[in-house]
Amino acid sequence: MRLFFSVVGCFVSFASLAQVPAQLNYTIAPWFHNRQAAVSLTFDDGIPGQYSIAVPLLDKFGFKGTFFTVVAIVNNQRISWEDINETALKGHEIGNHALTHPHFIKIPLDAVRREVADASKHMNMLVPAQQMITLAYPYGEGGGYSAKDQAIRKTIAPYFIAARATQNKLQPYNAYNFAKTNEDYYMINSQMITDAETMNNFGKYIDETIAAGGWFCPTYHGIENGWIITPGKVFEKHLKELDKRKASLWIAPFKNVIQYHKERNSAKLKLVESEGWRWKLSLTDTLSNRKNFDQPLTININTNGYSVYRILRKGRKMPFKQTANMLLFDAVPGPEYITIDFVRVKPVKSAK
Ligand SMILES: [Zn+2]
Repeated sequence: MRLFFSVVGCFVSFASLAQVPAQLNYTIAPWFHNRQAAVSLTFDDGIPGQYSIAVPLLDKFGFKGTFFTVVAIVNNQRISWEDINETALKGHEIGNHALTHPHFIKIPLDAVRREVADASKHMNMLVPAQQMITLAYPYGEGGGYSAKDQAIRKTIAPYFIAARATQNKLQPYNAYNFAKTNEDYYMINSQMITDAETMNNFGKYIDETIAAGGWFCPTYHGIENGWIITPGKVFEKHLKELDKRKASLWIAPFKNVIQYHKERNSAKLKLVESEGWRWKLSLTDTLSNRKNFDQPLTININTNGYSVYRILRKGRKMPFKQTANMLLFDAVPGPEYITIDFVRVKPVKSAK
């Protein structure tokens, strides 16, 4: 018996001498789940049809939208805050569109600060399912190039991770590199859905966005009723156009796209230790407020044919996918190490 055990022991220790590659060859996908482009459907003001028509249609297709809400308009239109909270519970985003929708250009900066800070305070209480971290400027004022626009951006920036402007570029979509500076995150270009032309070109805009690897962020107002109206049938047609291309698209709320973009641009994956059949990795970024940045990034690692059987973080198993050479998993940057355990078998090299 003693001899048998020592033979087994000998075999195990021999096997553990083998090493997984000591070099990390990875990419962080430009967009979540390796999709080619992103789309965020945004709805401004708080108009009844957005909740009675758009939300049920979005839910039917499984898409999540962003509703930039004005406290005074919601109250005037008698939309119930419970319904808005329900919408947030389903995974849609409720964003800030100020307390009373004033012209930021015409009011003092102190009043701008109060308009957005009070709206956030109010809505965080009435919509406890989420916290406000994004803004759409009323009339787009604050997203432009004047000195006052710049001052408005400085005033609101401490309260939000990004802000949506109106249309300020020639193309309807944002190319991937849409934010070269932090200030650019507070000047996000969007496509107003206003008339027959913008309504009918929807499919074309998406195709251009996919080709550019960018982000398409249309702005809707009234759905079927209210102002700047998109008929419900047209809105549904837009969702069908998205659905046709959904294998190429990450359709996500405004905040998630911003979170992904900011996290990815500052994230680093490092091989801390390669020991036997285990890798210890760190995934960190330079963003400070973790609460505002909890969007998982999609990591692609070339494993040279070695098979992974388990990924752990804080003692918890993480889901992953694996093809012949590539390992794929989602993770939020943070201080906890990620350990990857490999199957203790060397890959059989296929004939080239
Ligand atoms: Zn508005």
